[in-house]
Amino acid sequence: MSIVGLARPGIRALHAYEAGEQVDGTVRLNANESPDSLAAGRFRRPLNRYPEVRPQKVARLLASRFGCDPNELLVTRGSSEGIDLVSRSFCEPRRDSLVLSEPSFVMYRHFATVQDACIIEVPAAAERDFAIDADALLAACDATTKLVFVCSPNNPTGTLLPRADLERLLRALTGRCAVVVDEAYVEFGGAPSVVELLPRYENLVVLRTLSKALGFAGARCGAVIAHPPVIELLAAVQAPYALATPVVECVEDALEADAAAGTSSLVAAIVDERRRMEGALMRFGFIRKLWPSHANFLLVQVDDARRLVDDCRERGVLIRYFGGQLPECVRISIGSPEENDRLLEILDALENRC
Ligand code: PMP
Repeated sequence: MSIVGLARPGIRALHAYEAGEQVDGTVRLNANESPDSLAAGRFRRPLNRYPEVRPQKVARLLASRFGCDPNELLVTRGSSEGIDLVSRSFCEPRRDSLVLSEPSFVMYRHFATVQDACIIEVPAAAERDFAIDADALLAACDATTKLVFVCSPNNPTGTLLPRADLERLLRALTGRCAVVVDEAYVEFGGAPSVVELLPRYENLVVLRTLSKALGFAGARCGAVIAHPPVIELLAAVQAPYALATPVVECVEDALEADAAAGTSSLVAAIVDERRRMEGALMRFGFIRKLWPSHANFLLVQVDDARRLVDDCRERGVLIRYFGGQLPECVRISIGSPEENDRLLEILDALENRC
């Protein structure tokens, strides 16, 4: 059974918006477009025309980058839009639930709340290095559960869910609910993407993004990867023309350049810097704990997280406070060597002040 059968009945009955045909070399009087554009410019496609309803070349390039077929992939405005689309498509408000490991990326909860879906939280213990507890996630699923969100590597803890645990979850939930694996940071972890499991599990949904490893957060481009019927369902929910022409063109160019260059030097540089920062940070007396990370950030526990964040901010460096959710924790993104050195200088100065 396809997990499409688990989607909200109203969404299953929804037809995708039928845009006016787009045929090159024709006179287009079918979409209330303007014959001309005031914002003519640097783009290959005319801006007075709507972009493709779904950008096909971007889909092909992303599919080849992520290792799936183009019909198994929906191009989205960042993976944020993917989270929103699956929540809206599967969870009937005030009736269906989704299961989350906590702490994790806050936007799962955010979009679930917007959808008025029930949220079932499964804590991951600090003492176990925030390992995502696949058995506890499974135990938390009940008859109302449509989605399980797994972020691997996890934000903000940097934890990776072992492949065997994920497969156990996928097997046990086959036909019962979708397992959404958010791989925003997968390139930094060294483990292969779980996209390769797609042929074996019809309930697997993978979220990918260009915001992190490609350094393209400003372009707002990501993808949902799943079996074709699921992609069609989500495509019907997504607003047409989701990706703007300037974004389509700069993403095409970036993906082609990156594919031609082979391995991403950006990722290797960040991973090197992460290792250097791990070593450098452990020198400071006020750092109590540093968790191993498979992502482009480090989660650290300090003596006084609020004060550290404020002190760094006063000196021109922003790090993220997580104190409420994670006692006395801060999350430090890995920047360029110069940016990281700037932080280390500040930490040196703060330590000497104490
Ligand atoms: N998933 C995770 C785990 C994230 O940390 C983020 C951004 N911080 C996103 C998804 C969303 O990223 P984007 O919309 O830029 O793809």
